[in-house]
Amino acid sequence: MWFFNDEERELQKVCRDFALKELAPFAQENDEKEQFNIDAFKKMGELGLLGITADPKYGGAGLGATAATIVMEEFGAVCASSTLSYLAHAILCVNNIQQNGSEEQKEKFLPKLISGEHIGCMGMSEPEYGSDALGIQTKAVNHKDHYLINGAKMWITNAQYSDIAYIYTRTGKNKKDLTTFILEKSNGDFSVGKPIHKMGMRASPTGELIFENSKVPLNSRVGNEGESTYHMMKNLEIERITISGISLGIARSCVDQCLKYSSERKQFGKKIGDFQLIQKMIAEMSTETEMMKHFLYSACKEYDQGKKGPVMAAQVKLALPKMATKIALDAIQLHGGYGYSREFQLERYLRDNKLNEIGAGTNEVMIMIIAKTLLKESQ
Ligand SMILES: Cc1cc2nc3c(=O)[nH]c(=O)nc-3n(C[C@H](O)[C@H](O)[C@H](O)COP(=O)(O)OP(=O)(O)OC[C@H]3O[C@@H](n4cnc5c(N)ncnc54)[C@H](O)[C@@H]3O)c2cc1C
Repeated sequence: MWFFNDEERELQKVCRDFALKELAPFAQENDEKEQFNIDAFKKMGELGLLGITADPKYGGAGLGATAATIVMEEFGAVCASSTLSYLAHAILCVNNIQQNGSEEQKEKFLPKLISGEHIGCMGMSEPEYGSDALGIQTKAVNHKDHYLINGAKMWITNAQYSDIAYIYTRTGKNKKDLTTFILEKSNGDFSVGKPIHKMGMRASPTGELIFENSKVPLNSRVGNEGESTYHMMKNLEIERITISGISLGIARSCVDQCLKYSSERKQFGKKIGDFQLIQKMIAEMSTETEMMKHFLYSACKEYDQGKKGPVMAAQVKLALPKMATKIALDAIQLHGGYGYSREFQLERYLRDNKLNEIGAGTNEVMIMIIAKTLLKESQ
């Protein structure tokens, strides 16, 4: 990108090299076996990527959404599953603690999460509350010197591997009476249900967190009671922007594979790239991918400069995953039967990308946020 600075270009190179060496060779097998690439995850810690947005004083890189999105794009281009787990750890857990935790909490949790010694997750969704996130029912009751937490969190990325869980609870009757806690597996603060088997993102572990009379100390609470709606909304912005980087990576890989295949595969005595219908697909896919790239990174830059908020994040999240699904479908079409087979990995890209139209808020929820806000502002 013309507006990447030298540091961002260097990060892009480091991530691309890492992705090709540590993620790409294992992506297909891990997808088939539903296996988390924990070795690569630990190495991300050695590279300093697990605390990409965290303060250097805790071991973080002190960078913003642009840098985090570069990581997502480069990793997403070869293994979306590993990237989703990275996002859950670095953006949903680490970044949340960095933004909202007390000094004591940051000192206690961030260094081990950033080095990769600990793995983190974030629990917002529940079995009965997904899009309606402010309706969550996991309850935390204040007993003066401790809290008792009861309930369950559903669809939690990294659940089975997490040492630390950043979870939202209900502490009052009003819709916005939400309070966050940082829970520790080693203290028995949560248990983990059965793994969830999925259509895509199969190498990213997903599970349920269960709280049965979990007794947690007061100092595991983040901020004051009832402050978490703002925290939640704020973190969803960076989550929606950065997860879209995975879709960009997927689209880019689809275009690359189509270009290669079009000059290799022959039918009717010609390379399929000589047929105008194939050329049309390539022209459109590559143009759409360029549009995705420019929209996403200009949104990242604006976000990092504090210029734009929830609407832009929702627009990015609505546009990119949808376009990447279309591009992955076109790429399968261009490859014919081979595209439909497992050999070419395109079907994995399609299955993986579909999650990005659901997780971090569905397409329909993005439409709701964009339309409601713009219509309200225009009145
Ligand atoms: C692989 C995976 C990983 C995930 N990781 C995490 C995680 O780490 N942490 C976490 O907290 N959550 C996680 N999630 C949960 C994810 O954020 C939710 O799945 C998502 O928010 C949608 O919620 P839901 O699945 O309950 O769908 P629902 O909210 O039940 O939606 C069902 C359908 O109704 C539509 N709908 C809902 N409300 C409206 C409305 N008002 N208007 C129009 N249509 C509407 C939705 O768009 C959807 O099509 C993950 C999910 C998956 C699949």
